[in-house]
Amino acid sequence: MTKLLTIPFFDWKQLYLERRKEYLEIFDRTASRGGFILQQDVDDFETELERFLGVKHAIAVSDATNAMLLGWRAMGLRQGDEVIVPSHSFLAAAQSIHFAGGVPVPCELAPDGMADAADMEQRVTRKTRALMPVHVNGRMADIDAIGEVARRHNLLVVEDSAQALGAKLRGQAAGTAGVWGCFSFYPSKVLGTFGDAGALVTNDDALAEKVVRMRNHGANADKSIEKDNTVWGTNCRLDNIHAAILAYKMTWYGEAVARRRAIAARYHEGFRDLAGLALPPAPAAEADRFDVFQNYELEADRRDELRAFLAERGIGTIIQWGGLALHQMTGLGFTQRLPKTDLFFQRCLLLPMNHMLADDEVDYIIENVRAFDRLEAQTKTEAVRTVA
Ligand SMILES: *Cc1c(COP(=O)(O)O)cnc(C)c1O
Repeated sequence: MTKLLTIPFFDWKQLYLERRKEYLEIFDRTASRGGFILQQDVDDFETELERFLGVKHAIAVSDATNAMLLGWRAMGLRQGDEVIVPSHSFLAAAQSIHFAGGVPVPCELAPDGMADAADMEQRVTRKTRALMPVHVNGRMADIDAIGEVARRHNLLVVEDSAQALGAKLRGQAAGTAGVWGCFSFYPSKVLGTFGDAGALVTNDDALAEKVVRMRNHGANADKSIEKDNTVWGTNCRLDNIHAAILAYKMTWYGEAVARRRAIAARYHEGFRDLAGLALPPAPAAEADRFDVFQNYELEADRRDELRAFLAERGIGTIIQWGGLALHQMTGLGFTQRLPKTDLFFQRCLLLPMNHMLADDEVDYIIENVRAFDRLEAQTKTEAVRTVA
């Protein structure tokens, strides 16, 4: 047995310490000029996001959940409008629909864990207004198939792309395929700051103008307020200091994503022969895709035992969304039966995945997953011998 390492699922302190000097300098520079609320750094960060995604408008807000809420309000979601959303997704998407007056309708997942377009279509009713794929783990759902369903039934498409900044499918960037998309810059996201932060992106000028106003009490982009041209708004501005940090992190975002993809490739090589696991597609598996690996989510036959085994060896893992699919939160009124998603939630597990992991840490995780697999095989052989 090799030496014991401690690898937390996510090392929060390291997020800051890895470039502490640069962050202190950014804080000093922005604070020294009194740049706290909606200053140049917010504009600059928005411009950088627009350039990066090739989208007309990026509007920085307090977090992705509020980005979605403003998106629904600005597009005029009506009371009782149904929105079909994958059950394998964060509660936030469904909450934003509910808070805007709509009804979230959970659907099944496809074999790759993303929203299943065919199942979405089965759930369309006269009340359905929109389809909302969630690009979980930094991988895009099949946006073309979902778009086809939307066209057939005259529905809108909106994306929860909170985990997928920079992910692409057939040249289309996550967040830019529908009416609007959102991003989260929560600390542990691929692009994360030291608090809450988010953005809404859209190619729709009128929608963008509304969201710009709604995030700042209904004021115009230049902060003026007109007597006869106002909208109801709220406060969900992005703090200027976070915008400055995020703009800096965008200068090496490509590197951070490349590191995640390298780790995913290393995991894939390390696990591909293990029969007890189902792996996410390797980074180079499909030429027309680019996944950013917000997470490395696999399925394991004996998930809970594997998790305990890794924990004993100092390796932190988590089950996404606190272990509950959306439709399983029956307290919120969901009545759907989704057997594929139920099964997935008995098997799914997130291994550590972020740009700060070193190769020897990744190898230590691989070694231990393999050690668990050997132990399982041995137990099975012994059981067979006992029977014989
Ligand atoms: C993180 C996340 C959100 C919420 O983002 P916040 O910025 O914390 O509001 C929404 N959807 C998905 C898929 C997420 O992963």
